[in-house]
Amino acid sequence: MSAAAAAESPLVRIRGLRKSFGAHQVLDGVDLDVRRGEVTVLLGPSGSGKSTLLRTINHLERPDAGFVEVSGDIIGYRYHAGRLHELGNRSITRQRARIGMVFQQFNLFPHLTVVENLVEAPVAVRGVPRRQAAARAGELLERVGLAGRGDAYPKQLSGGQQQRVAIARALAMDPDLLLFDEPTSALDPELVGEVLAVIKDLADSGMTMIVVTHEIGFAREVADTVVFLDEGRIVESGAPAEVLARPRHERARAFLAAVL
Ligand code: ADP
Ligand code: MG
Repeated sequence: MSAAAAAESPLVRIRGLRKSFGAHQVLDGVDLDVRRGEVTVLLGPSGSGKSTLLRTINHLERPDAGFVEVSGDIIGYRYHAGRLHELGNRSITRQRARIGMVFQQFNLFPHLTVVENLVEAPVAVRGVPRRQAAARAGELLERVGLAGRGDAYPKQLSGGQQQRVAIARALAMDPDLLLFDEPTSALDPELVGEVLAVIKDLADSGMTMIVVTHEIGFAREVADTVVFLDEGRIVESGAPAEVLARPRHERARAFLAAVL
């Protein structure tokens, strides 16, 4: 692929994605493109399949049908009919290392300091020298507004600080794509803003992201595309001004009326 074609093609391409748990069809034919540098906000009621969709993109779930393709210089893979194709010479572990994920519950290692949390994966997965990883960790902590907190343990930090550490930890792997699964839902209201500000700053720097959130103001301000998932299907997709102001689907209207 030429450099120009690579720049134009979407970083994430999802087609016909289906996933069920037992008899429960959780993803029911999802098609989605995410272009490089774009922020996609994924909305939808509880149980609509948002987390499953993120987990499938990050290889934590295998689809039953359809495919997820994340292509670029480094990563390139495709699931088709539940089987992995076009792996090239890279293992799933190596490919997953190019996708960062931030969870509602932070998931920091409680027995490690902040810096150790950031250094762990680059050293273990990518073979970065520890000293170099620690220097980079310092830069990333500064970027998320936590310079000087590297020696703290997670439990010594507020929820908002812990989530900013989790974001820095995801960035430490130099991801091509960041996935956020309700990153502010576990936070006290007064701590939400500081985390959203960090995510917005990443968006402004050109990071490609898929963000599951109920923060409609954030979606309106930061999203390039808002996607509404209902019962495993995308029922609305478009610019935030369109989808948020004039939702066409009845379930999307009801959801927005409830969260706004
Ligand atoms: P959302 O993130 O939109 O709330 P999820 O993707 O977490 O939705 O879940 C969608 C549905 O799939 C829910 O009904 C949930 O109970 C079910 N589900 C998710 N993961 C599993 C699993 N590992 N086993 C069985 N059911 C699951
Ligand atoms: Mg969820």
